[in-house]
Formats: sequence, structure tokens, C-alpha cells
Amino acid sequence: TLSSYVTNNGKKNVVILGSGWGGISFLQHIDESKYNVTLISPRPHFLFTPLLPSTPVGTVDEKSIIEPVVNFAVKKTKGNVSYYEAQATKINHVDNTVTIKSFSHVNPFGSSKNADSIKKNDSADIKYDYLITAVGAEPNTFGIPGVQEHGMFLKEIEHSPKIRKQFIENIEKANLLPKGDPERKRLLTLVVVGGGPTGVETAGELQDYVDQDLKKFLPSIAEEVQIHLVEALPVILNMFESKLTSYAQKVLEQTSIKLHLKTAVSEVKEKYLVAKTKISDTETKSEEIPYGTLIWATGNKPRTIVTDLIKEIPEQEGSRRGLLVDETLKVKGLNNVYAIGDNAVAGLAPTAQVAHQEAEYLTKVFNKNQIGSAKPFKYLHYGALAYLGAEKAIANITYGKRQLYTGGGVITFYIWRLLYLSMIISWRSRFKVMSDWFKLALFKRDFFKEL
Ligand code: FAD
Ligand code: NAD
Repeated sequence: TLSSYVTNNGKKNVVILGSGWGGISFLQHIDESKYNVTLISPRPHFLFTPLLPSTPVGTVDEKSIIEPVVNFAVKKTKGNVSYYEAQATKINHVDNTVTIKSFSHVNPFGSSKNADSIKKNDSADIKYDYLITAVGAEPNTFGIPGVQEHGMFLKEIEHSPKIRKQFIENIEKANLLPKGDPERKRLLTLVVVGGGPTGVETAGELQDYVDQDLKKFLPSIAEEVQIHLVEALPVILNMFESKLTSYAQKVLEQTSIKLHLKTAVSEVKEKYLVAKTKISDTETKSEEIPYGTLIWATGNKPRTIVTDLIKEIPEQEGSRRGLLVDETLKVKGLNNVYAIGDNAVAGLAPTAQVAHQEAEYLTKVFNKNQIGSAKPFKYLHYGALAYLGAEKAIANITYGKRQLYTGGGVITFYIWRLLYLSMIISWRSRFKVMSDWFKLALFKRDFFKEL
């Protein structure tokens, strides 16, 4: 049954969709004494994505980079704050409601009394005066056959143990086969598709595990592991300047990662994939690469809830990357819906940095009662960092248009660590990451198939 949930206390209801960089940053900064605040997200934790590539091999523990939503919500003591562990399935912009499907069998956290009766798998309509959509995006397979069935993504925390498990099982199986057996070679081949920062950092971390840990207890297996990084463009990490990208390429090749540039994967089968390398404007070479583990990191596309809304609003027609927003982050064509982070198209890169600043800006507008009369959002770029493996990183640190630091190497790796620590949004998580790094200096990575 569908019913409408409203808190009637004279305050406006602000509903936030998503518990990622956009949603949690908004929750942290909104003044709950001025609004009733409801956060809806199927994911009961925030995920510190910048360190996600470190978790599949156990450089950092999965639990270190997630933080329960309730830990943020309990700090909002000055007003009504509710959390529904639920998926928003539809934004009903005419009725000003969001339809949700609950994932939790327990009562939702929060002080909103009339919220208590939603049970697991129940649907309900949540009424909003203002809606903040921050549902992020989902991995894009570009419709390439076989990716969904055989590839693994690295977008959410649950992807991380799956990658580790597959890699370990392949090592175990390979270890039973004689040297020179093509099946052994296949099992020990990992292919990472996508030379953006997710792909590069993941490949670098996998190689670190092989060189620093696996080599110590299974040297013969370690020397046979081959990691491939496949990128359709002529360069990896194309958001960095060419000096840094060529340095990054050099580091990857030195650590024996095989780079395939100008190469697009066009088909994935259970045991091999088809990669097409551009040789000239008219010519391509096709190659079959057998693999044991395939990680697909080719970027993201909008979620269904977003594409469904786009179809209903004439002002959004033809928008393929997300919700078009105006300079105050209001969704074009709607009066009281705002979009931040990866689900918004504001002419900025889909990064945590952008989502966080958009959330901070919007809460200032809400807290100062400047809705409708706010100054435009201005993004301040603090630069970009990427880990390459072998304790080397590249960084381009800026303050808006001012360049503060550009470099690559071991010192940059320590700068990378320091800056990432400072970006973590909870002390518990910061402490855990620090202790994971300290542990790594003394012991091997935690590389367990299952817990
Ligand atoms: P997300 O953080 O993805 O959050 C979306 C939230 O919405 C999630 O909680 C999700 O569960 C929820 N949701 C989904 N569907 C629904 C629904 N139907 N109803 C309600 N809730 C829903 N950026 C950087 O700036 N620096 C980095 O170093 C960096 N590293 C990255 C590393 C990796 C491996 C990845 C994958 C991304 C990285 N990014 C980085 C990009 C950054 O994580 C994203 O840009 C950022 O997460 C966007 O924030 P968001 O709030 O829009 O989306
Ligand atoms: P991305 O979109 O940045 O990179 C995907 C790459 O895959 C592209 O270079 C693309 O050319 C390539 N590609 C697409 N289809 C392909 C195919 N069929 N075969 C081979 N290559 C193919 O994706 P991402 O790395 O997941 O990053 C997503 C967002 O998150 C970006 O905005 C990025 O800046 C951000 N991010 C930042 C960091 C960081 O700052 N360290 C880390 C991870 C992600």
C-alpha cells in the first residue's frame, strides 16, 4: 500500500536521496533546526571512494573506509532527522513526493514518529518541499556483450571482496597446474579495462600485492601473474597534464603492467575478451586476451531514477549524462528539486570534490534562507591525485587557477597519503586507515578469500 509521510510542524521538509559524497555532505551541513530532514538511501553507509582501489588486495580494510549513515544522523540533534534504508524508485515531481521501497525490516532511524510503520519491501510516498537528489551514477558497460556476466566493477564496497575472492581462487587453481599450461597462464592474467583513475589505481594496487606479498610466499606464481591495462584513448589518466601521464605510464610499465593504448574492448567471453587496437585512422587490429579476472572501470552512466525523470521534463530533453541544473544547482524545469554530485550536469567532472562543494554551497543557501535568490555556485578546483603502485603517485595540486604543486614519485605518494587522510570525513575512519597503513609497514596485506 502506498501512503504519504509528512512531518507537520510548520517546517519545510527537505528530502535527500543518496548517502554518498553529495548526500552525506549535505546532511552534515544542513541546519536541522530550520528544516525537517529525511535521508533516503539503500546503502546504510557512506563510502570514502578515493581509497576503494586499495581494498581488494587488503592494503586498506573494507570497513576502514565506510561509515554508517546513522553515525552522521545522530549528530543532528537540533531537529527532526530521519533515515530510511530504502531505494527511491520514482520522483513524482507533480505531487512533490518520492516513492521508496524499503530495504530494512527495522524501524527507520530518526525522530519522525509517523515513519515507524514502513516495513521491509514496503513502498511508501515521502512528501517533500525541497528534494536534493544525489543518487550518483552506475557503472557503464556501453552495452558491450559479456561485461555484465563476466566482468567485475569497483564502485561499491561489496565489489571489493568479490575481486579478492576471484583472484585468490584463480591463484589456488593455477597452483595445481604445471608451469607452461595455458590454463595456468590464463588464471594468472588480470585485465583491467579503463585507464581512468579507477583503472590505473586498481591495477597499481594489484601489482603491489603481487610484488610485495605474493612474491614472498608463492614466488613462482607471482612471477607469472600478468596484469593488463586496456585504454581506448592514446593516453591513460587524461585529466592530468602530459608530463604526469607519461611519468605514470613509465611507472606502470616498470612494474610490469602491460599497457594497451588506443585499444577498446568490444566483446567479453567467459575466458577471454576481444580487444581492438587502432593502428591508423582506417585500420584496427583485433586481439583475444585470455583472462582469469576482469575488472571493468570504464566510467559511469546515469541511474534509472534519473533517466526516468529526465524523460518527464521538457527542459531536460536530450540530456544523456544526468540532470541539467542551473547555476544554483536547481534542476532545470522544476521549482523545488536540486541535483548535486554525479547525477547532476553542471559542466564539472564527476568527482567527490565537486559533489562535496556543491553540497556545502547548497546547504549555505538553505541555511541562510536564500532559496531563489542565491548567488551562483562557484567551484574551486584543488587539483587531482592518483596512486600508481610501487609507492609512487602523481599530483597536480591547485587552488582554483593557481598551481601549487605538480609532481610524481615517492614524495608525491606521501603527499597523496596525507591529503587523503585529511579528506576522510570521520575520525573513526581516519584512525582505521592510518592504522591499516601502519600495519602494512610491519606485516603483509590481509588477503582473505572469505571471512
Ligand atoms: P555517490 O557517492 O556514488 O553516492 C550515491 C548514493 O546514492 C549512494 O549512497 C547510493 O547508494 C545512493 N543511491 C543510489 N541509488 C539510489 C536510489 N534510487 N535512491 C536513493 N539513493 C540511491 N573523486 C575524487 O574527487 N577523488 C578521488 O580520489 C576519487 N576516487 C574514486 C575512486 C573510485 C574507485 C570511484 C568509483 C570514484 C572515485 N571518485 C573520486 C569519484 C567520486 O567517488 C564520485 O564523484 C562521488 O562519489 C560522487 O558523489 P555522489 O554523492 O554524486 O555519488
Ligand atoms: P573515467 O571515465 O575517468 O575513465 C574511464 C576510461 O575508460 C576512459 O579513459 C575511457 O576512454 C576508457 N574506456 C571506455 N570504454 C572503453 C573500452 N571499451 N575499452 C577500453 N577503454 C575504455 O572512469 P573512472 O576512472 O571510473 O573515474 C570516474 C570518475 O571518478 C572521474 O571523474 C574520475 O576523475 C573520478 N575518480 C577520481 C580519482 C582520483 O582522483 N584519484 C580516482 C577514481 C575516480
